[in-house]
Amino acid sequence: MKKAILIILIILIVIILLIFFKPENNSIDYNKSLKNELSKIDCYDKRNLNRYINYLDSNPDLYLEDVVIRVNLNLDKKFYTSTTKSSFLNKNYILVNKYIYLPEDYVPDNLVNAKLEYSRDGMMLVEEALLSFEKMYYAAKKDGYKIRIMSSYRSYQYQVNLYNNYVKKDGVDAADTYSARPGFSEHQTGLCVDIDDGIINYQSFEKSRSYIWMKNNSYKYGFIERYPKGKENVTGYSYESWHYRYVGEKIATYIHDNNITFDEYFILYIKK
Ligand SMILES: [Zn+2]
Repeated sequence: MKKAILIILIILIVIILLIFFKPENNSIDYNKSLKNELSKIDCYDKRNLNRYINYLDSNPDLYLEDVVIRVNLNLDKKFYTSTTKSSFLNKNYILVNKYIYLPEDYVPDNLVNAKLEYSRDGMMLVEEALLSFEKMYYAAKKDGYKIRIMSSYRSYQYQVNLYNNYVKKDGVDAADTYSARPGFSEHQTGLCVDIDDGIINYQSFEKSRSYIWMKNNSYKYGFIERYPKGKENVTGYSYESWHYRYVGEKIATYIHDNNITFDEYFILYIKK
């Protein structure tokens, strides 16, 4: 008899616990409302729903919009996995990063030589980008600052040699933190420059007077800081104070005013 009462008691307790906690129902409700919130976001892609949920799980502090943007960038996957070929060749708004690459034989149209007045010998850029750089150079000069191109267009083959040398020296893992793999370098677009001020090494550009000028003015000429400080998780690159990318005045101004990266801009307004 005592045993029967005990069993009934246990069953009662279990029922009460189930009524109060309803674990399954709660998580279904949560996922439903999360899906609802996510789907309101502009660049939401329903094929990525499970990836958004998983990414939010491991990054609970992010805004939902950032979760969507980052997953759409494939940042929930390892670098150099899930890669796609760029479909924006010869456009100022082409994105190249650790998931989007350029064909081996891609050489941008309209590459022209930079003048020695503001460049190392043999530097080439896409004409529109170079004309804008030139304007920026003269504006900086007028204000009393110097900028100089130390690296610009680099061919696929050049990047092969560069990357392989780094790998030989430091190993793949280390090389991947500071050098792009061939095809994945923005320098192959002919739309970006590494600059210095003619005084200190380009890798210390951040410490130069010219850096402040660039920070306040480069967007007016269509150039942005491509790998900003604090955005390493989005760009996949360590901070590079010397690397500027031409995207045109309109996009550069938006990126500057809203303090976002070009990767984010691309997902928000170009790829969608
Ligand atoms: Zn660079």
